[in-house]
Amino acid sequence: MTNQRVNTNVSRDLCEIGHDLQGYLQYLKRLGYRGVPLSEASVKILEQGNKGEEAETLEMIRKDLGDCRRCRLHKGRKHIVFGVGNPQARLVLVGEGPGYEEDVHGLPFVGQAGQLLTKILKAIHLRREDVYIGNIIKCRPPGNRNPEPEEIAACLPFLQRQIRAIRPRLICALGTFAAQTLLQTHTPISRLRGHFHTYEDILLLPTYHPAFLLRNPTKKRDVWEDMQKLQEAYEQG
Ligand code: URA
Repeated sequence: MTNQRVNTNVSRDLCEIGHDLQGYLQYLKRLGYRGVPLSEASVKILEQGNKGEEAETLEMIRKDLGDCRRCRLHKGRKHIVFGVGNPQARLVLVGEGPGYEEDVHGLPFVGQAGQLLTKILKAIHLRREDVYIGNIIKCRPPGNRNPEPEEIAACLPFLQRQIRAIRPRLICALGTFAAQTLLQTHTPISRLRGHFHTYEDILLLPTYHPAFLLRNPTKKRDVWEDMQKLQEAYEQG
């Protein structure tokens, strides 16, 4: 048998095994199983397999974003605000989008709300450089208006790739817009906050946006409670 023929047979066998396995897992799911117990050896093999894949880095994603003109927000921006922080952060914080100061500096959360965010992080013993900070959209909407659906559609995939590249244990969604966008829901932030949800198997805790806190200082107590939950989960992992 030629090498090519052997390879074709192996590929076909692997496809069949994959297909059978998928069928079996679906069968287990129908029976109500929500996980498959794996031996330590199997976990090691899977981990090695994952290392073999070329994982996307933040640099690769930034390069792909380039001088983005995928939506009309590029027309009024000074800088793209890609995101900043530890590429291996255990915690990613996600806001809405750049405001005036962020647009000028090309960095997220550097205005008044950003200063409050830095203080909130400090209160749970974290520095900005420990975490990664990003936004749902990377260019400032004119007059800080809410982003339009097509602007989100163009931009969100980049944040999603950033989160996959960082693989954090936790995400903190800051405010209505970030929480509702990541969780694909219209539930109000007042009901989402304070509870852990999941985003692609990552624990996600929504809380109020620091800009909202500046306007509504009575909500500081809620945010403090949320931050204590976040700190506890952060320190566990
Ligand atoms: N508000 C946000 O949502 N993001 C920033 O980067 C700054 C202010």
